[in-house]
Amino acid sequence: MEREDLVRKISIQEITPGCPYLQDESYLAPGMAEVIYFPTQEDEISALVAQFQKTGTAVTISGARTGVVGGAVPAGGGVILAMERMSRILGVKRCQKTRAWLIQVEPGLSLRSFQRQVESKNFEGIDQEGNVRDFIQDPSLYFYPPDPTESTATLGGIVAANSSGARSLAYGSTRNYVQRLRVVLATGEILDITRGEHQADRSGTIPVQTTKGSKLLIPIPTYQMPAVKSAAGYYAKPGMDLIDLFIGAEGTLGVITYLELRLVPRPDKIFSGIAFFPDPDQAIKFAQKIRILRSDPLSRIKPIAVEYFDQHSLSILRQGRQQEESRDAFFADFPLSAQSAIFFEQFYQKDEELEDIYEHWQVALEEHGVNMDDTWGGFNEQELEKMKRFRHALPEILNEIFRERKRHYPTIHKVSADLAVPEPYLEEMISLYRTRIEEQGLEYVLFGHIGECHLHLNILPRDDEEMLRAQELSFEFAAKAVSLGGCVSAEHGIGKLKHRLLELLYGPQGIEEMVRVKLLLDPKGILNRGNIFPESYLPSLR
Ligand SMILES: Cc1cc2nc3c(=O)[nH]c(=O)nc-3n(C[C@H](O)[C@H](O)[C@H](O)COP(=O)(O)OP(=O)(O)OC[C@H]3O[C@@H](n4cnc5c(N)ncnc54)[C@H](O)[C@@H]3O)c2cc1C
Repeated sequence: MEREDLVRKISIQEITPGCPYLQDESYLAPGMAEVIYFPTQEDEISALVAQFQKTGTAVTISGARTGVVGGAVPAGGGVILAMERMSRILGVKRCQKTRAWLIQVEPGLSLRSFQRQVESKNFEGIDQEGNVRDFIQDPSLYFYPPDPTESTATLGGIVAANSSGARSLAYGSTRNYVQRLRVVLATGEILDITRGEHQADRSGTIPVQTTKGSKLLIPIPTYQMPAVKSAAGYYAKPGMDLIDLFIGAEGTLGVITYLELRLVPRPDKIFSGIAFFPDPDQAIKFAQKIRILRSDPLSRIKPIAVEYFDQHSLSILRQGRQQEESRDAFFADFPLSAQSAIFFEQFYQKDEELEDIYEHWQVALEEHGVNMDDTWGGFNEQELEKMKRFRHALPEILNEIFRERKRHYPTIHKVSADLAVPEPYLEEMISLYRTRIEEQGLEYVLFGHIGECHLHLNILPRDDEEMLRAQELSFEFAAKAVSLGGCVSAEHGIGKLKHRLLELLYGPQGIEEMVRVKLLLDPKGILNRGNIFPESYLPSLR
């Protein structure tokens, strides 16, 4: 089919006032675009993007818009490419080398739907022959480990953001589970990248050919990535695999149109708990102990997630719960004496193991002042669900608080830091947060992935003046994290909100190196304008 015919086939929607495609879950004001395209197949995207490349029209790729850094908010006018109609599971493959199961899928499928279908092995609508049949008949259970909390996110968005979640303590980020991608470049050409097939050579270049045979030499940036969890800027390491450049590139290098995602065996038993500590520091000390025990071969403590809540998070949860009491309380009550808390999860294989595992946790918890009568234990998915409600309630209550505050100060929002630091510096970082924020008399909560030394700090300004101070503090904390070898965005990416922080991490030279990669693959800078680096860095647009 001719390019024009392919483009004509694509459904279009005009932008109307309040259009949800102009916003994501960040606080950014709605962007601007002229029209939304809903492609259903790769060749349509290729034809469309090639056409916009000619006219230099900006294209913003839209997944489920659950991102929190404005990645899917259209910054440069132009058009929106909504991926939601490409949401099928296409098939199942077996990796030749490792024998792992790989699921072939389109990028617009939601994580929730993908996980359900994979875990129940329910692949309605696809041929139940060959590998699909073998996978269904395989008696073992499998799952896809990446678990960013928001399960309505699409697989394409998750890979573009290299998302991670509580379980990345044990399983790592999305990157580890992506075996193959097809990516439409801004020129309309397509790269088909299988992990292991294209690596950077000694000169730091990755040679690759598009499916039409065009040869590309992609220069890998030379900066050193922090040795902690990172979702900041392009992945760049000596000898790296080409696929890793596109994972976490926030849609700036191409449109992901096809994915092969690796599953891992799933132990079918899970033990989880929330422990409440009567002291604000004991949960931090406990997490430190757990990090040591995790790597001790003699210990039975092998959590896949360890999450922290400080005393301010608990007090906000308490307030939220009281306000909800007229309706059905959405999570159970917890001890008034609690000053900090830890949520944990651990898989195990056999019922006989549980008693031993439980005892190890009990000893460690009691050593840190926890009363086991006040501790919530979960031994199955239903009880785990109760704990999930507790964890999810915090962002919901914070959003509620800000809806109220915005009525008086429409431009205020919570100021978030998503910093990770090397293990030896975690306590120093927490102490800095507390001292500096309390000196300024600001409200805040600190919670998150303490098992990976990655906490979410949310400063909660009450007016415009407090917001300015909160933003300055947040920058100061990011600078400190960088000086300690940490990362300015461990999980949420850079998007349109954290350019200044990326400069802190890699300096202007590091960003120029990313821009070289960008312009090689997208010479007119049409894809996802404003993501990762400001437009002022793109010489062709200056
Ligand atoms: C309550 C809540 C909790 C969250 N918790 C976590 C968490 O624990 N961990 C975490 O990492 N994140 C978390 N997030 C952030 C968010 O869910 C992730 O960033 C998610 O991966 C985005 O997926 P999406 O489909 O919504 O993408 P979008 O928000 O639509 O897009 C994200 C980026 O990916 C690009 N993109 C989308 N599809 C494609 C494609 N096919 N090809 C190329 N680029 C594409 C977009 O242009 C944009 O730059 C949370 C968000 C919320 C609201």
